[in-house]
Amino acid sequence: MILDLYIYPHPILTQKAEPVTEFDEKLKKLIEDMADTMYEGQGVGLAAPQVGISKRIFIVDTSTPEEPSSLKAYINPQIILKDDPVVWNEGCLSLPGLYKDVNTFAHVIIEAQDIHGETFREEAHELRAVALLHENSHLDGSVFIERLSPVKRNLTRKFWSKNAHKMADKVYGESKLRCVF
Ligand SMILES: [Zn+2]
Repeated sequence: MILDLYIYPHPILTQKAEPVTEFDEKLKKLIEDMADTMYEGQGVGLAAPQVGISKRIFIVDTSTPEEPSSLKAYINPQIILKDDPVVWNEGCLSLPGLYKDVNTFAHVIIEAQDIHGETFREEAHELRAVALLHENSHLDGSVFIERLSPVKRNLTRKFWSKNAHKMADKVYGESKLRCVF
């Protein structure tokens, strides 16, 4: 089931999300629905606050022909290490059509729980590392444009406050995604 997508600067995207304590059928269904929503938006990651749920959950799928199925859910994640500073052209399903070069890291070690509550550790590089950090920031109420310089950030915020509806329409107009502003 495709969920409603919350568009920046909706307040749910700027608040700290709550830890997950119940690893039940409801959680499993939420993650399936988040995956449907992410694929409909052609994203490589999606965090629960982006579908209106302020919980510490995100999914990432950075599949390539070499690694065709890389979909994974990260619950109550913690970044153990970030290394290899890099500038990356990032985008976000909650800021559709906006892409900016921002500072991030190309080497990450993350620890999280899976849908059964089991803890796992993953080491990631390049796009996967960038996606993990991007999604993890959503759980702390931060979007990628926060990582722009103050001048660029202000200009981008101004642009976005004028153009959010237009951009969402342009990017999602033909899709099944419903936006919440
Ligand atoms: Zn995002």
